[in-house]
Amino acid sequence: MERSLEEAKRQILQIRNKMSLRGGDEAAKIFDFHLELLSDQSLIQPIRDDILRERVVAEYAVAENFDKLAARFREMGSEIFAQKAADISDLRRRVLTWLSGRATDRLVGVTGPVIVIAHELTPSQTVELHRAHIVAFATDAGGLTGHTSILARALSMPAVVGCTRVTSDIEDGDTVIVDGDGGVVIVRPDDVLLARYQLLAREGQQRQRELRSDASQPSVTRDGMPITLLGNIEFPEEIDAVIKNGGSGVGLYRTEFLFLMSDLPPTEEDQLESYCRAIELAAGRPLVIRTLDLGADKYTQGQLAEAERNPFLGLRSIRFCLANQELFKTQLRALLRASAFGPIKVMLPLVTHVMELRQTRMLLNDLAEELDEAGIAFDRNIPIGIMVETPAAALMSRTFAHEARFFSIGTNDLIQYTLAVDRGNERVAGLYNAANPAVLMLIKSIVRAGRHVGIDVSVCGEIAGQPLFTALLLGMGVRTLSMSPGQIPAVKRVVRGLEIEHCEALARRVGSFDSDRQVLACLRDELRKIDPEALAGSEGG
Ligand code: PEP
Ligand code: MG
Repeated sequence: MERSLEEAKRQILQIRNKMSLRGGDEAAKIFDFHLELLSDQSLIQPIRDDILRERVVAEYAVAENFDKLAARFREMGSEIFAQKAADISDLRRRVLTWLSGRATDRLVGVTGPVIVIAHELTPSQTVELHRAHIVAFATDAGGLTGHTSILARALSMPAVVGCTRVTSDIEDGDTVIVDGDGGVVIVRPDDVLLARYQLLAREGQQRQRELRSDASQPSVTRDGMPITLLGNIEFPEEIDAVIKNGGSGVGLYRTEFLFLMSDLPPTEEDQLESYCRAIELAAGRPLVIRTLDLGADKYTQGQLAEAERNPFLGLRSIRFCLANQELFKTQLRALLRASAFGPIKVMLPLVTHVMELRQTRMLLNDLAEELDEAGIAFDRNIPIGIMVETPAAALMSRTFAHEARFFSIGTNDLIQYTLAVDRGNERVAGLYNAANPAVLMLIKSIVRAGRHVGIDVSVCGEIAGQPLFTALLLGMGVRTLSMSPGQIPAVKRVVRGLEIEHCEALARRVGSFDSDRQVLACLRDELRKIDPEALAGSEGG
């Protein structure tokens, strides 16, 4: 604890100095208050006492005592004290982050194969695990399409989330099997079970190798319809994996990860560098860069200071950007400048109202004028598209189709908002289902609206990478799918075994079902005929 406090002070001092150098004296003062608090014995001593005498864990003692102090400030009733309470909550979060960071530090020296068992992991912690060469993880909390799971897939790390009580069932040193495909965690397996899973793992690797060796085959159906398969990435370096796996470009670059991996927002230059790196690696292939999708389960440090009651329904994505225009403009300027170095498309997340698209376009126009005046080059015709991932946007897709240059259907969010099921909450994970007829009906209408006006419609949610859904999506008229790079070969194999007419008949049949069970049974039957091995790989999670 003492070391975390010292580390907290050292880092706050660094941030404070950076802020005042950038001219933010007011912001720098906030950090002075943080520093005073960390030296205030009336706060720190009770934390020590709780840890030593009450024998509670350090995280709990910090959270409790900071919360009590924040509550005292809030009760004082004035605006100034309310602000102080918010500062205290911010500091609480920082100290807790450093305390848990210590846990991540413990991973640095790990050499043997280790599985991490945690209550919950944030997306950025997941990236840290990968860097520390951890082989797999399992958590109590989380859902299949939460960003921690998505990252695990991107990093090819076996993971099972939402196990509810994995932390209480497993002890340090236990032998554990994490079967990410089957969505199963087995504790202390006997030798027979262990041998069976070792064999399964070897077979899985063999299948992966076979699929990869077909990766350069063209992505066309048996009757000659080309299907574009793209990759979803979080960092430019993943573009290599997209290409190696036979993808023809990037359908979704989640730029918020640049923000999640550091305490301070990246500058325009930092961003320009990342976008140019992506352009260089994509080498003329399609590259769709999504503007910041922060909020919900992807917090920035600053956002957490004032936690929202319902973050998935809160100030996230495009709403957050339009409410923080300086931050947004920095990103848009970097994107405009990057467009001079190669072709990009810009995509806006979580658009709900047509005004959000129009407002963004106005900001882009203003910035374009500024760049013109400064004599800085940029592409004047960058296609601006939207993610269709709220039921409102889906229902209004005819209107949007006239204003956006392309659509990408974000089924991860579309499912959660249509079915009112939090995508990251293990308690309702059983209700989260892409095969729900209401979801499928919305997807169909979005594709129809886009095709009617003649704009591209792709799917970039997790179902795009699930072979189970490939025939159905093609039958609905989708011709571009964007997924985790490692999923491309399996989807390509299915595409190459399909005929469009057959897919369309399947989509019509599925459209007549009124339950997700019927839909799933039908899709399984179809996939069994095309690629039974893909069916085996798509049953779990
Ligand atoms: C989606 O919602 O389907 C999507 C692709 O975006 P994200 O998973 O980043 O929210
Ligand atoms: Mg989304």
